[in-house]
Amino acid sequence: MSPVRCTGRLLEIWKIRSVVGPDFSSARQAAACCSQEGEVVKRRILMIATGGTIASMDSGEGLAPVISSEQILETVPEIRDLCQVDAVQLMNLDSTNIGPEQWLKISGHIRGQYEAYDGFVVTHGTDTMAYTAAALSYLIQNSPKPVVITGAQKSISLRDTDARINLKDSFVYAADAGSAGVSIVFGGKAILGTRARKERTKSFNAFASVDYPELAAIRDQKVIRYIPEPDLSGGPVFYDRIGGRLLLLTLIPGMSAEVLRACRDQYDGVVLQTFGVGGLPGGDEGPLAGALREWTEHGKVVVVMTQVPYEGSDMEVYQVGQTVKSRLHLMEAYNMTLEAVVTKLLWILGQTREPEEIRRMFYTEVRRDLIRV
Ligand code: ASP
Repeated sequence: MSPVRCTGRLLEIWKIRSVVGPDFSSARQAAACCSQEGEVVKRRILMIATGGTIASMDSGEGLAPVISSEQILETVPEIRDLCQVDAVQLMNLDSTNIGPEQWLKISGHIRGQYEAYDGFVVTHGTDTMAYTAAALSYLIQNSPKPVVITGAQKSISLRDTDARINLKDSFVYAADAGSAGVSIVFGGKAILGTRARKERTKSFNAFASVDYPELAAIRDQKVIRYIPEPDLSGGPVFYDRIGGRLLLLTLIPGMSAEVLRACRDQYDGVVLQTFGVGGLPGGDEGPLAGALREWTEHGKVVVVMTQVPYEGSDMEVYQVGQTVKSRLHLMEAYNMTLEAVVTKLLWILGQTREPEEIRRMFYTEVRRDLIRV
């Protein structure tokens, strides 16, 4: 790979931005909190940079993240008016390369710094941001302090970028007294960490909140909160283990059961994306059901979900679903997102391999990931 070029243009843009100072008065108020002596102090926010397009420049072989956490912050100097901010560069990766190891690194860092800050902003690539947001929702539960994940479709070094507004919105949201828990702030909205999905590869409006309303809008440096956070006074619960090998299989008409048989020994579980509200070709007597039965008999996890993007599964509706569900000891994802299903299973498999405990944990709602109707 040839070396990454960092041109003077980036510095030029930072200079331009630093003289344009918007009015932060409303955000300042929300961001302020009082010390015991009654003196007004700004909230302390730690920005954790991990890479992504927001931090990318042309490498000569495509975009690659090279811009540092401090450089990202310098691009939006108004953030320092809003809160006390420190920045740390945990990694500088395209999020294509972010997975369980990096999720643990991010959550471990937040755990280590939890007492020192009032909130956290994680800058991240958009491609796997929804997976990281879901993973952090399981690794950091019940957090009264906000963990906000953001990024951009265009590099912060460009003039026509969404990076500066997304970053500013994220700090506005993280510094707001009503914010808590893990969420994504992107395109002017806050989305629960367990409910986000990247739905557009290019538009600035890239993320959707799936089968759950957006938590808030962020407009003109104000948080318009639609859904208040629950009482989290019990304090945060951190987990430091994640594990297991999962297979994701999307059904297509006419699919043979061979792939399930061939893969069984290499995986701890399979997530099967079925059609519609949930059904298996051949029903509970067919070859697919036979292959799945072998998985459960070998103590492997089987989760059925729908491949339809919205509204979830309901395997009780059709005979091709109901009989399969009642005769095979599988679990149903209902309206969980794929990102939540996958990361929840990895989190659970990091804690236990006991089938009934896996089942109990999977069906226990975490940050509104699973809404049974
Ligand atoms: N490939 C980039 C990443 O996920 C895309 C982005 O950040 O928008 O790191």
